[in-house]
Amino acid sequence: MKQRPHNTETPSELERKLEIDYNSGAKIIEVPSSQLPPGVLGMYDSITHTIYVASDISEHDRQFVYHHESGHAQGLIDECKTDAYASSRVGYNIRPLRKMDRLAA
Ligand SMILES: [Zn+2]
Repeated sequence: MKQRPHNTETPSELERKLEIDYNSGAKIIEVPSSQLPPGVLGMYDSITHTIYVASDISEHDRQFVYHHESGHAQGLIDECKTDAYASSRVGYNIRPLRKMDRLAA
């Protein structure tokens, strides 16, 4: 659990954007989709154990993408199984509205 400095009442910009996924222990970083490969809404970097989620998509899409990438961070590799994990967490699947490769790794 991240601890805030005692002299601040609200999280700093960095703290707000850098959180930890409790399911995998991975860092979560929200980035503008312009910083992700074209058409990609999220990525998991296994080298740095970091989840990237596009910050400029709807909360509905962002939740699914986050749980999809969390699935990868927990060791899921197969895209369909990772989608199934994500939809089990959020109760819906955005994939029918997206091309299969849009969530990327
Ligand atoms: Zn994926």
